[in-house]
Amino acid sequence: MSMSETRSGPSPKSWIAAIAPYVPGKASSDDGRPVVKLSANENPLGTGAAAREAFAHASANLATYPDPGAAIVREAIARVHDLDPARVIYGTGSDELLHIAASAYAGPGDEILYVRYGFSVYDIAARRVGATPVIAPDSDYGTDVDALLGCVTERTRVVFLANPNNPTGTMTPRAEIARLHAALPADVLLVIDQAYAEYLDADEDDGGLELARTAPNVLVTRTFSKIHGLAAERIGWGYASAEIVGALHRIRAPFNLTTAGQAAAAAAIGDSAWIEASRAHNSRWRQWFCDEIASMGNHGLSFVPSSANFVLLLFDGRLTAEAAYQGLMRGGYATRWLPGQGLPNALRITIGTEVQMRDVARMLRELAEAG
Ligand SMILES: *Cc1c(COP(=O)(O)O)cnc(C)c1O
Repeated sequence: MSMSETRSGPSPKSWIAAIAPYVPGKASSDDGRPVVKLSANENPLGTGAAAREAFAHASANLATYPDPGAAIVREAIARVHDLDPARVIYGTGSDELLHIAASAYAGPGDEILYVRYGFSVYDIAARRVGATPVIAPDSDYGTDVDALLGCVTERTRVVFLANPNNPTGTMTPRAEIARLHAALPADVLLVIDQAYAEYLDADEDDGGLELARTAPNVLVTRTFSKIHGLAAERIGWGYASAEIVGALHRIRAPFNLTTAGQAAAAAAIGDSAWIEASRAHNSRWRQWFCDEIASMGNHGLSFVPSSANFVLLLFDGRLTAEAAYQGLMRGGYATRWLPGQGLPNALRITIGTEVQMRDVARMLRELAEAG
């Protein structure tokens, strides 16, 4: 048989072949120019000094495996949030936790439920394990608890809910989360994905961690990728019952947090001044940017009220979301246009520095007025 003869290789499972790959936020234009990245909800202020110093120190020991139990991370998290360190689970990004939650509790024939315009990883996590993704209708781009509950069947095994939600920025209040949890069957795992929780004011807390402390079927996930400014190190954590955490430990990767990542995360979560400065910056410039967009309403621009570090803009005038996306890219800014997520008239823009937000607002106004 000649080497050039075509032979058929292994076939991926049908449910794997059906996955639409995750689309990461762009960091360069289509012709390869570097651009400012307002497309991945990273912290525009960077990483706090305490985390950077801890990270640099860790370079002294690269030859040995990291602590598989991530003790310094679990203990730091437990101290800050008043949790049991034994019940803190950790992952290579909260992404790993979303995947292993789906793997542990669902498989072929089961259903995994989430809301329309939910986080794009939920679809991949469901399909990856051969489960059937079920999408509940939204309400004004946000989570509709009654619609979610209306989609629960005896095959439902996992419900994913991002709060605040990405890409819409919408927030489901505490009473609605409590109502959802109370109405779900006890054998359905409710995953409350709090990737943006640190951006909330104290009175906006959705009660997820409180539920995870006491309920047998709630997993809260958090990340060091957003407010903590450690996206490069891929660190997520979660909290749930000892039984759920035990199941997740069985299938997480053996050394899933690096030594430097553990050191940086433990320092970052204790750096309350950095967290507070990042939150204050975000609140101020998110408000300023939304006021600017509101003043472009005559051109058909509007926004979905956001509780996170990004805003979803809607384009219903002559200027389309696609043209705005391309215009901002020409001007040096990558944002997230979302036709693949059923939002062809929307752009998700991360709140950047003051200079960046002023620049983006000015360009959007020029594009709208020229349109
Ligand atoms: C960014 C984000 C995550 C975090 O992902 P990591 O893997 O921890 O970087 C999780 N959920 C949502 C909704 C997000 O937007």
